Amino acid sequence: MNDVASQISPCAASTCHRELRDYELAGAQHICSPCTTAIHTWLHEIPLQMIVLGGSRQRETTGTPGPTGTRTPPLPGRDDVLNLVGPAAWTTVHDPYGDQHGPIPIVGTLGQWVRIICEERRWNGPDTVTAETLAAWLAEPRRLDWACRQPWAGEMRDELYSLMRTIRGITRLRPQRRPIPQPCPRCDSLTLTETDHQLYVDCGTCDSLFTRSDLALGAAATAARVTAEQLNVA
Ligand SMILES: [Zn+2]
Ligand SMILES: [Zn+2]
Repeated sequence: MNDVASQISPCAASTCHRELRDYELAGAQHICSPCTTAIHTWLHEIPLQMIVLGGSRQRETTGTPGPTGTRTPPLPGRDDVLNLVGPAAWTTVHDPYGDQHGPIPIVGTLGQWVRIICEERRWNGPDTVTAETLAAWLAEPRRLDWACRQPWAGEMRDELYSLMRTIRGITRLRPQRRPIPQPCPRCDSLTLTETDHQLYVDCGTCDSLFTRSDLALGAAATAARVTAEQLNVA
């Protein structure tokens, strides 16, 4: 049977709870389009985050000096940042004794996915291996498009999600969210928000995602309904 439209399949990412839509299933996607868009956005955010991380290498010693005027001696660099921006082995790191501490370097996380794609597609990776070049390589639409159709796409999304959480936790640099003063076309709540660099507007109540044109249609439908209600009342 070829009836993909009647199947219900969740997005393969455990950090996402959407169901794949018909067109995503028909396109053999393992993760949903919003997840693919999110990955694209994160990869474009990495160069900016690297600049901020570069400035966070020194342990923050801010805060008002105590009344005694004690001078804080210079401390070594923050371990979490040093781990994150540090070099990584280009091969998989096995850690049977659990003695790898701190987050896996950004280059390690991105590099592992670049390596898998290169091996499976026989493509060449970037000429130089840095967080920026690996992110740009992965974000290339042809590659990301192929990656989201692979059985490991959910795992890739989950890993990049947790990488971005770690990075943003250190830099405290997060995309800004703004409320949209329009009811959700699906659940009618006033909980729509838009986020910097993201294609989709999301509803905090029913968790739906909308494009700008979905919202324009939603606004037109709401206006038509309100007019009809006013006519009925009159
Ligand atoms: Zn998803
Ligand atoms: Zn809603």
